[in-house]
Amino acid sequence: MKLSRRGFLLATGAGVLAAPGVAGLVAGRQGVETGGAREDSLWTSEGPPIPQAPRFEGERKVDLAIVGSGYTGLACAYYAKLFRPEWSVIVLESHGLGSGASSRHSGAVYARHIGIGDAQMPQRGLDRLRSFIEAEQIECDFAPASTLALLTSKSSAEGARSDLAPGARWIPPEELRESIGSGYYAGAVDSPGYYRVHPAKLVFGHARAALRAGAELFERSPALAIESGRSAEISTPRGTVLADHVFIATNAYTPRLGFFQSSLFPVHQYSLATRKLTSEEIAGFGLDRWSLRFERRVLPVTFSLTPSGHFFVRMVLGYASFNSCEWQDIEGARNLAKRVFEQRYPRIADLELAHGWHGVTGHTAMMRQVAGAIGDGNIHVSAAYNGLGAMPAHNNGYLTACRITGRVEDDTRFLTGVSGQIPLPGEFYRSLMFKPFMRLMTPV
Ligand SMILES: Cc1cc2nc3c(=O)[nH]c(=O)nc-3n(C[C@H](O)[C@H](O)[C@H](O)COP(=O)(O)OP(=O)(O)OC[C@H]3O[C@@H](n4cnc5c(N)ncnc54)[C@H](O)[C@@H]3O)c2cc1C
Repeated sequence: MKLSRRGFLLATGAGVLAAPGVAGLVAGRQGVETGGAREDSLWTSEGPPIPQAPRFEGERKVDLAIVGSGYTGLACAYYAKLFRPEWSVIVLESHGLGSGASSRHSGAVYARHIGIGDAQMPQRGLDRLRSFIEAEQIECDFAPASTLALLTSKSSAEGARSDLAPGARWIPPEELRESIGSGYYAGAVDSPGYYRVHPAKLVFGHARAALRAGAELFERSPALAIESGRSAEISTPRGTVLADHVFIATNAYTPRLGFFQSSLFPVHQYSLATRKLTSEEIAGFGLDRWSLRFERRVLPVTFSLTPSGHFFVRMVLGYASFNSCEWQDIEGARNLAKRVFEQRYPRIADLELAHGWHGVTGHTAMMRQVAGAIGDGNIHVSAAYNGLGAMPAHNNGYLTACRITGRVEDDTRFLTGVSGQIPLPGEFYRSLMFKPFMRLMTPV
């Protein structure tokens, strides 16, 4: 799609529906949320320290500018420097390096890429992530994880029991009550194929690998607006970047940057963890047998044991007006998560709940990722992993680096483009629909 810079600046709200992404090439109506330090997640407080990155200042002309320093952006920076060592590659991060979803997720990794029909590509994506971890010697507790899919109603339990995947095992409710200390469930499926990882160690490992490869990283340096052109122009509070190629890797935060406001939306999540458990307590919850647990429901709930011995719950909070990625009522979120935790595991009431943290995931209406080129073709984006993104984010960072640097890679065909997203209603109706729906579906 070719549009002049003037064309972009004239783009209107109506244009958003017709051409997703294009109207976003001017700053979003509500603008980027730059204020406030993000509170640490439990993971961040355990991660190894990384060198503080400077703020971006002045004027720079670069080959590739990447906006966002999660797995997606940092993987792209790393691979772009490997494929084109002579290129100047910079990463702009609005807050601290890796401080978005990549350091606050639940640590489950699976060969699944939501919205991609190909059966083999997710396995190749997982293999790429594993090779990266090994090649860069990232100590991030990556290991297979025994996993339970938990069923909350008799009908869902009957359905799951009669449709077991190869290698899966049915666990009846009596056995569950005995082994995990919860009488809440109608049964579970012991599900193979999952891995666990320490999210913060993995994202900080990405940052160190990108630095070693020669990329320059800047934090507390938000991109405030991106303007298309042969050299795209990125405005930051203290300077401007002219870039031959731009990669927008801001996932759930993307609409606030002005892109995909009509098709992509953030969903807020809250996680609450116990203090470090003793080995007897771990065995009492059956966490030595199954460290990872998912409730199969509309708004899924996850439970997991961290490698350092904290048991946590992760649940969906809902939508905040105008695609905001900040959640105002953290105390309410904490109370809700506590109720959910205690309802499933009554013994949690006797334990100190020492760590709580908030995060956002990026979603689209039909669970299709947004990945491909926009504008004059030199601005690329990858966002909306629809809840599961540690592996797809790394993989799309790799694929986008291939696409931008011209490296031949068959899987770039899965950067399926940015058009064809189903437009969501405007803010008034969005709030009217999403907020009560998510409240109704909240599993307490
Ligand atoms: C609570 C929770 C649990 C999850 N559980 C799992 C799980 O178990 N398994 C799994 O695979 N996935 C999980 N996910 C999803 C996974 O974390 C994400 O899909 C993945 O981290 C996305 O990586 P990313 O780099 O695209 O985005 P992020 O890590 O969100 O990175 C985007 C970065 O862009 C920065 N940014 C935003 N706007 C700007 C701007 N204007 N200028 C500069 N920088 C900007 C942000 O600060 C952020 O650091 C979970 C997510 C959450 C929140």
